[in-house]
Amino acid sequence: MSAPDPDCLFCKIVAGEIPSTQVYADDDCYAFADTNPQAPTHVLVVPRAHFTDVADLARDAKASAALLAGVRAFAAQEGLTDFRTVFNTGREVGQTVFHTHAHVLAGRPFTWPPG
Ligand code: 5GP
Ligand code: ZN
Repeated sequence: MSAPDPDCLFCKIVAGEIPSTQVYADDDCYAFADTNPQAPTHVLVVPRAHFTDVADLARDAKASAALLAGVRAFAAQEGLTDFRTVFNTGREVGQTVFHTHAHVLAGRPFTWPPG
């Protein structure tokens, strides 16, 4: 974990400096609607603390568990039983924001393997 990064988009969203549509929040996580949704439900669940990617997050067992608990709590809140959770890690696979985030997608059929 590192201190809030003044240049990090999602640190600014967590701090309320950039507006977002909140869908869930707790002491450790903040969840908001993705501005470019890829499914009827497409939210981003982020730790309030700054971690660059899921590999960075995984060094902190408590923060990792808290983020997964946030995903679970959001899914329960929405009554989702079937949903896809994605962590893009690294530019080559499509990570564009380097504050780790779980994409939670639902509401349409999904194929496998992903594109
Ligand atoms: P990544 O490509 O890093 O896995 O996912 C970043 C996600 O953040 C993308 O799905 C993108 O649509 C979303 N995103 C980028 N900028 C903003 C923003 O300012 N607000 C919100 N709510 N989502 C954003
Ligand atoms: Zn950040």
